[in-house]
Amino acid sequence: MSLTSLLARLQRQGADVVSLVAGQPDFPTPPHVCRAAIQAIEEGHTKYTAVDGAHELKQAIADWIKAERGAVYSPDEIVVTCGAKHAVLQSLLAICDPGDEVILPVPYWVSYPEQIKLSDAIVKTVTPLGADLKITAAQLKQTITDRTKAFILNSPCNPSGAVYASAELAQMADVIRAAGIYVIADEIYDKIVFEQAFSSMTAFAEIRDQLIYINGVSKSYAMTGWRIGFLAAPQPVAVAVAKYQGHSTTNAASISQRAALAAYREEQSFVADMVSAYQERRDYVMGRLGGMRHVICATPQGTFYAFPELAAYYNKNKGVTSSFDLCQYLLENYGVALVPGSAFGMEGHVRLSFAVAMATLRKALDRVQAGLRSLAQQDEAT
Ligand code: PLP
Repeated sequence: MSLTSLLARLQRQGADVVSLVAGQPDFPTPPHVCRAAIQAIEEGHTKYTAVDGAHELKQAIADWIKAERGAVYSPDEIVVTCGAKHAVLQSLLAICDPGDEVILPVPYWVSYPEQIKLSDAIVKTVTPLGADLKITAAQLKQTITDRTKAFILNSPCNPSGAVYASAELAQMADVIRAAGIYVIADEIYDKIVFEQAFSSMTAFAEIRDQLIYINGVSKSYAMTGWRIGFLAAPQPVAVAVAKYQGHSTTNAASISQRAALAAYREEQSFVADMVSAYQERRDYVMGRLGGMRHVICATPQGTFYAFPELAAYYNKNKGVTSSFDLCQYLLENYGVALVPGSAFGMEGHVRLSFAVAMATLRKALDRVQAGLRSLAQQDEAT
């Protein structure tokens, strides 16, 4: 938060700052989706909808899951929420009792631990052993206790860009089934994948009753501001979530729901165009990071983030002994903003987003390189 306010202050003062902190696509929402929203207003879709979402949208989501993932859900098992974030939070609120444990792989999306705590549950982190930043089924198994209620798996992962392969998910599904716990599978970045094929937790029928599947339009259709996500889950969970929603937000915005309907039902070519732009930028980022001496970075297989390890550049003479210090140093001295790994539970790393134009990326990476070089030189001189 303090880095965010420093960045905002520098920007307000008109400083020359390049930001790689974006957590959302830099593409506009596709025009046909925007037109559907305008039409929704003109046609009077401006009233409350059903709490768990307009039936037509829930049916479209069920059809989309069937077509894309081969899994069959009825509209009664789907709740349309105010973004995927809201879907994860309400799922946790619905299933967790005080003192329950929720297993969370590191590095994690920043909201998960806070949402687990809001649900009166306890965060149990699992740290990956390998450079691919993925945990194993064996690690999951070791972390399960009789207090474990759920496991959150985010693939493709924000911030690492790691994508779990089908065989890895299958092993996890075995562990989840045997332990009788829930898995909250947040697949919000499922469409933003590169060489590696995407595999979904919905493929494992044996854990269907334990799976809370999370997705939405924010990332795939560049619709973060519209606030539409959903969960598909066993009906008792969906009903419990709808109870929370009925007494908090009521329904997701009616106009946004009509826009999401167009996103799921109409032409999809936008997605592939966006992903190929991300892939080109990902390749550029990896090329640049590869040219920096002490940087270690697993190639992101999905998302629009890279999560390099830069601990080798810590320099105590410059007051840089953490990822936070490093980000502050780069922002104050080189005018480039990144997010410290500590925000994602993993010291030593930083997250950089490539949801920005190529020219911005080039400028930002020039600055990162110059900043890191200065830290290394300082260190070597002492
Ligand atoms: N899940 C993950 C892993 C995310 O990175 C984000 C947004 O950054 C979300 C969920 C939130 O999505 P939404 O904007 O639909 O609430």
